Amino acid sequence: MKQNKIPQATAKRLPLYYRYLNTLNQQGKNRVSSKDLSEAIKVDSATIRRDFSYFGALGKKGYGYNVEYLLGFFRSTLDQHEMTEVALIGVGNLGTAFLNYNFTKNNNIQIKMAFDSDENKIGQIVGGVPVYAIGEMMERIEGISVAILTVPVSEADAITEKLVKAGIEGILNFTPVRITVPDNVRVHHIDLAVELQALVYFLKHYPLESN
Ligand code: ATP
Repeated sequence: MKQNKIPQATAKRLPLYYRYLNTLNQQGKNRVSSKDLSEAIKVDSATIRRDFSYFGALGKKGYGYNVEYLLGFFRSTLDQHEMTEVALIGVGNLGTAFLNYNFTKNNNIQIKMAFDSDENKIGQIVGGVPVYAIGEMMERIEGISVAILTVPVSEADAITEKLVKAGIEGILNFTPVRITVPDNVRVHHIDLAVELQALVYFLKHYPLESN
């Protein structure tokens, strides 16, 4: 994959760039300066210039960047032409919010199915997504490469083990558990409570200049 050549920090900013450039494109704009881009997405312009140089996009002085060229690059790099199907495990408060959230608005990622152990939730359709019994996960999840984990802490390890056995490639883990997976499975961990705590800590101890 050509993405291998892009540093991870740059790769993480790709969806951000993609979303904004898509908006510009829809507005009929065909060029953008790194300064305007920087103000809109809050990434400094030197970083943007360096990132874009990895894509072979060298902005011209007084012209900026060609929006369509960049979008074409992002589409192929982010696999925008392919639909990525996702499964969600645990249709609680957080899981339900994800199911109701329209992921396909800006990119081709779709939650295709959800699993839960609660009799009252099994068989329901939430946000257009069917909720199946967790016991059916192994057979149903075939062909799905990404899972969102929103189950209680006590269940995280056992479910992860099953997901790995089923051949899942990536897990977006919203449980506070540091789940263990083999090297060929990628886990991104998002602990909302920790993030919020960190923000509050920074506000207290590192107040911004303008405050
Ligand atoms: P709720 O208010 O619906 O219980 P919650 O987010 O507070 O939401 P949690 O206890 O965190 O609830 O559970 C999240 C979801 O995970 C629930 O819908 C629960 O039924 C489901 N769940 C619990 N154990 C399992 C399991 N082993 N497999 C699949 N889903 C499970």
